[in-house]
Amino acid sequence: MPLYSGEALVLRTYKLGEADRIVVFLTRDRGKKRGVAKGARRVRSRFLGALEPLTRVSIAYYEREHRELVRLGNAEPLRSPLAAQQPDAFGYAAYFAALLDEWLPEGDVHERVYRLGITTLDALTEDVALDALARYFEYWLLRLQGVYPSIEHCARCRRDLGSAACLVARDHSFLCARCAPGEGGVAVSTEAFDFLRRSARVPPAALGGVPLGPRAVRELDAAHRALLAWHLEKDPKPGRVLREIQPER
Ligand SMILES: [Zn+2]
Repeated sequence: MPLYSGEALVLRTYKLGEADRIVVFLTRDRGKKRGVAKGARRVRSRFLGALEPLTRVSIAYYEREHRELVRLGNAEPLRSPLAAQQPDAFGYAAYFAALLDEWLPEGDVHERVYRLGITTLDALTEDVALDALARYFEYWLLRLQGVYPSIEHCARCRRDLGSAACLVARDHSFLCARCAPGEGGVAVSTEAFDFLRRSARVPPAALGGVPLGPRAVRELDAAHRALLAWHLEKDPKPGRVLREIQPER
């Protein structure tokens, strides 16, 4: 049975039998894996504190031939969302982890998405505003998958988007004020686009210095929800996780 060890982010866990858990985790070098943590639900489990969503762990696991599930040897937390001070941080950690899980197929190595997870966890424990952090994370996740629409040019006429752009379902893109009328869609202001432009250049821990007012938060929340739903081709489950901790706006 080959043993692998390295670094990973825990994405989610399920109960298995009386005392065990199935753990879905994203390794830096071998993509997403699914494994059994024996005894993880026991009070004195060696996995205690290591299996919360978005925990960064040093992990060792055994792979068995022709078996989809690996077996976890051990998992030591390196950084945990439990260290975050803001009351809703834990719910956001679960949201980020659930989005990574929804998005990434098993075994696909994606170093930049892994880094996004790590830097988002760092920002979470450094008290970056959670609303802004969530919009940043969604923007980058969509961008790294190559599906974030242009925030500079209208998808139809190619002119600058200007100050009254709309995210339109038919195009899955932003349209300018000339092209958007009659299409419905989600209005997105200059402030929101400015936030995205800055997000493209700074790590999430630097978001403290990037202003994002409540209106821009709402616009990007609605726009990203639509983009995620289109590209995941359903109402993304992770969105439901987040809506449980924050009232509809
Ligand atoms: Zn246009």
